[in-house]
Amino acid sequence: MTKFTAGEMLELRAQFPALHQNVYGKPLVYLDNAATTQKPQSVIDRIVAYYSHENTNIHRGVHYLSQQATEAYENARKTVADFINAAVAHEIIFTRGTTESVNLLAGSLKQFLLQEGDSVLISGMEHHSNLVPWQQICLQNKTKLLVAELTNKGEIDLEQFKQLLSQKPKLVAITHISNALGTINPVKEMIRLAHDFGIPVLVDGAQSVAHTTVDVQDLDCDFFVFSGHKMFAPMGIGVLYAKTEWLEKMPPWQFGGEMVDQVSFEETTFNQLPFKFEAGTPYVAGVLGLEAAIKFIRQYDMKSLEAYENGIVRQALEMLQTIPGMRFIGEPIHRAGVISFVVDGTHPSDIGTLVDKMSVAVRTGHHCAQPVMTRFDVPGTVRASFAFYNTEEEVEKLVKAVEKAVSMLR
Ligand code: PLP
Repeated sequence: MTKFTAGEMLELRAQFPALHQNVYGKPLVYLDNAATTQKPQSVIDRIVAYYSHENTNIHRGVHYLSQQATEAYENARKTVADFINAAVAHEIIFTRGTTESVNLLAGSLKQFLLQEGDSVLISGMEHHSNLVPWQQICLQNKTKLLVAELTNKGEIDLEQFKQLLSQKPKLVAITHISNALGTINPVKEMIRLAHDFGIPVLVDGAQSVAHTTVDVQDLDCDFFVFSGHKMFAPMGIGVLYAKTEWLEKMPPWQFGGEMVDQVSFEETTFNQLPFKFEAGTPYVAGVLGLEAAIKFIRQYDMKSLEAYENGIVRQALEMLQTIPGMRFIGEPIHRAGVISFVVDGTHPSDIGTLVDKMSVAVRTGHHCAQPVMTRFDVPGTVRASFAFYNTEEEVEKLVKAVEKAVSMLR
């Protein structure tokens, strides 16, 4: 592994225009990367180039622009497949994001996999996007929702997870990395355990694709979902990866143009994979932006980026814990770039509001994971979340801002 130096990091950082602006008269310290990441110039340029010179609808046209745009769109599918090591490009379905990917899956699986009396197993740290769709489908289908509990450290209780597997749920849906706790789940092991019972597994990769190497064949997950905007790509584009054997079995979720083969008033036959799951005009610019983001990431060695980011996170944890009354919510052994905390005697949203005025952008609240807040008996947390473009200096600014906010509130 080649070490990612501070100099290289500054060069990388220079490519993100949004990071180089003042808010309230001071340089922005952007630590809300779990909500969304900033975009490098190459991604912004790709979208501008598409709308400036290439814009047209795809798949249907015989004219030059349409053929070019169709080819670019399908090449991007191959790039995404390669990025997560999918076996074939048609296993990549473009969606609006993680949320839509989970809804597609839930809407399709409920039609043939989940019957009355069956169950679906999730964990206690799921984002609402990987909880509410399953909960609602379970209510509709009279299916039971099983929940793997969390330990006090904010890790999934693996012993209880194994016991729940023995109830033979029809699906396991778990997050790779928790956006509320920072926990990296041992998904490979969990998938192996689930497969021992013949249970398919969905991995929510919203927080992992931009921070670690994902190899869906090595993980052997049946489904993997993620959002472009959390990995330096535009908002509104996302991916559902599914093994071919599942895509072949799954009925379509949305109906309309593009996903059909033959249509009459009496019946319709559906298009081949992956088009069966992509009804209507797709977000071509978003797909090309996603490809540009992948090309951006691939200029670097992911392991080096990960090691650099881990160093920043360690520094932040060490410095933050010196603040009196600091309590981390989630102290997992394997942690990604998310730090959630509360400080005794203060409210998280007051800290967030005050540090914002010191030009430090963090998030406060329940982070779309209300059951996690209930589990840890907090109204919400302050969440600082990092990307590989954050600096040690920014960590210092975060800590100083939190210290100052706490002293003002006490
Ligand atoms: N899953 C996790 C773990 C997340 O962190 C998020 C967003 O924060 C989502 C799902 C939903 O992503 P999106 O809003 O892009 O659909």
